[in-house]
Amino acid sequence: MTTIDEFRAGARDWLRANAKAFDQDTESDPEGGAVPLAVSKAFQKKLWEAGYAGIMWPVEYGGQGLGVAELLAFNEVAADFVLPVWPFVVGLGMPGPTLLELGTEEQKRRHLPPMLRGEEIWCQLFSEPDGGSDVASLRTAAVRTETGWRINGSKVWTSGAQVSDFGALLARTDPTVPKHQGITMFIVDMHHPGVTVRPLRVATGSAPFNEVHFQDVDVPADAVIGAVDRGWQSAVVMLRNERVSLGTGPRSRSNPLGFDSLLELARERGLDRDPAVRRRLAEIHAREAALGAYGRVLHEETTAGRNIGARGSAAKLAGAAQQLWAADLAQEILGEELALGSDRMNPVAMAIITGPGMATAGGTNEIQRNIIGERVLGLAKDPGVDRDLPFNQLRFSR
Ligand SMILES: Cc1cc2nc3c(=O)[nH]c(=O)nc-3n(C[C@H](O)[C@H](O)[C@H](O)COP(=O)(O)OP(=O)(O)OC[C@H]3O[C@@H](n4cnc5c(N)ncnc54)[C@H](O)[C@@H]3O)c2cc1C
Repeated sequence: MTTIDEFRAGARDWLRANAKAFDQDTESDPEGGAVPLAVSKAFQKKLWEAGYAGIMWPVEYGGQGLGVAELLAFNEVAADFVLPVWPFVVGLGMPGPTLLELGTEEQKRRHLPPMLRGEEIWCQLFSEPDGGSDVASLRTAAVRTETGWRINGSKVWTSGAQVSDFGALLARTDPTVPKHQGITMFIVDMHHPGVTVRPLRVATGSAPFNEVHFQDVDVPADAVIGAVDRGWQSAVVMLRNERVSLGTGPRSRSNPLGFDSLLELARERGLDRDPAVRRRLAEIHAREAALGAYGRVLHEETTAGRNIGARGSAAKLAGAAQQLWAADLAQEILGEELALGSDRMNPVAMAIITGPGMATAGGTNEIQRNIIGERVLGLAKDPGVDRDLPFNQLRFSR
């Protein structure tokens, strides 16, 4: 029987032999991916073979069947390394845990092991051009066919769609009932000829997300995740997983906006003796420690099968706020150096530009505050005037 200390030591040895330590001066790849897809896939496979992917997932679905102590030990050790696992972050953080909770036995056996082995990449198809915060107003439609469903519509801001094999998609299956009812979640094959993916390029020059269009995309009846017309409940499960994953994910010591990195930047410029910079560094350090502790509690409760409710929103909000504070401090420390760098962006500059996206991804800060206000503080509810009207009687749906 391996003790936690032995597990941690084994993980550290494995990472030293197989992963790179972060180098502050490394220039980032303008495509944002930084490492080729084949390298990421091969790394994820090795990670799984070594016993460090799906640490808490059940063995029958390809996981390691270990506990939260092992997961936290691995995350702690992995924080010192750069793991090239970007294509798998969405799948393993959102659709994967949702399938574990709501998927059929067949769906779990079919999809979870290839996800862990780095063979299949997933994306999340929720947001639409006419509404992201109000997910329930979605207009992508799925109508019944003899063998399953036919999907038509468009999604936007889909992270990683350009490399995905499958997507977890929300579509309207009954427009005659209020908007939160009549939605269904589907597994969609992203290689279907009716799926078109168009990259959206952002300020860093990379294209991390996409528009995705569906034209007569047929999916079989067993592609439904959860129950037909109960997709809102499935979406709530996935959004809960997303918020925990975004708000409490491993905090890399090599994060360009993490405390260690900011301290190094300040030291290199002799600013670590500046009282104002020291005070802000101390704040960042304290918040990072608090977020880490909060994340551990939420992971433990989730593992024990307890519903963490709106506290996932609190973690997500705090994580996003931390990025913004850290980005502000990094800008102050670097000053005009930021503008004078080479024409390729260094990781700090890249993180400063992409950091604010955290305040939007997975539900904006305002939406998290609404959730916390209503469900934790018991404040008055958002009026939600169109909540009870049938979807096909809403003005925009005509
Ligand atoms: C980095 C990144 C990755 C993403 N990846 C994905 C992905 O993989 N899949 C996916 O489906 N989506 C993804 N998204 C989309 C994201 O979920 C949406 O952008 C987000 O939900 C907000 O939707 P919106 O952009 O349509 O803004 P809107 O909903 O139009 O909101 C505009 C503004 O109005 C405010 N607002 C809206 N409603 C309210 C309200 N009721 N009360 C108070 N304020 C309100 C918002 O806070 C925001 O400031 C990603 C976004 C980012 C930034």
